[in-house]
Amino acid sequence: MFTRRRCLVPRVPCRIITACLLSLTLFVGLLPQYRASGEAWQPGTAPAALSQSAEEANPRPRVVAILPGHGGKDSGAVHYNAAGKVDLVERDVNLAIARKLAARLKAAGYVAVLTREGDDALTPNPGDAMREVQANLDVANSSNADILVAIHNNGFSDPSFSGTTTYYCPNREFASENLRLARALQKHMVSGFRDVMGYETRDYGVQSANYKPYGCLYTLGDDRGGTFRASKMPGALVEALFVTNDFEAWVLAQDGGQELIAAAILDGIQEYFDSAPISAR
Ligand SMILES: [Zn+2]
Repeated sequence: MFTRRRCLVPRVPCRIITACLLSLTLFVGLLPQYRASGEAWQPGTAPAALSQSAEEANPRPRVVAILPGHGGKDSGAVHYNAAGKVDLVERDVNLAIARKLAARLKAAGYVAVLTREGDDALTPNPGDAMREVQANLDVANSSNADILVAIHNNGFSDPSFSGTTTYYCPNREFASENLRLARALQKHMVSGFRDVMGYETRDYGVQSANYKPYGCLYTLGDDRGGTFRASKMPGALVEALFVTNDFEAWVLAQDGGQELIAAAILDGIQEYFDSAPISAR
């Protein structure tokens, strides 16, 4: 994550699939409205393929903790319009995507737990990023979630920067699971942008979160001890797009763009569970 700014569907009712496809279709219909950057953009053809039901592999509902990055006074990255005013805030976009992902997970038979439900921070002093992250991790841990997915979008001082990254923590006893989850999320976000929008996002791939402030503990937890209570389950952190890039900010501001990202993350989660070793199912 660039921190200078601080930054398939299983067996579900047909009406849900129809609603999802309709949402994506409406989004494609909005594409010609984008004129700010003058970038050429040819809409794609079909949504990502549907995957096998997680419930076929295991009748026990999987629990997915969703951590919407930032909150309260911590806005994360922001986008400025041509007049120099903030017109998009990462904190809000993350929460919107997280809510859409939670709805999709529930429709697909999962238990979804948002570590923060609203715009407010969980701690009295949200300026203390570590305490805020810890409060979110505590919610995930108390939910006994199977996995943790942190939702972020990137930011950088150079607005030409764009693209998609997923981070994982290699300093855990379940590091291989972190990596497997991160790879599945990254793959489906990149293919989702391509297949649904015809947008070739810059694929920065899966990266270690070790460099982040406070190490992996900043969001994903590690085993370095101290007074912090690390996350107890495999996790990954997505940086879907750049809030500071004009075009990608436009995508992130669209309801259809948020739905696309939520659908791609769901696909990645499905693949993660479906490809788990038999002994882990
Ligand atoms: Zn962020």
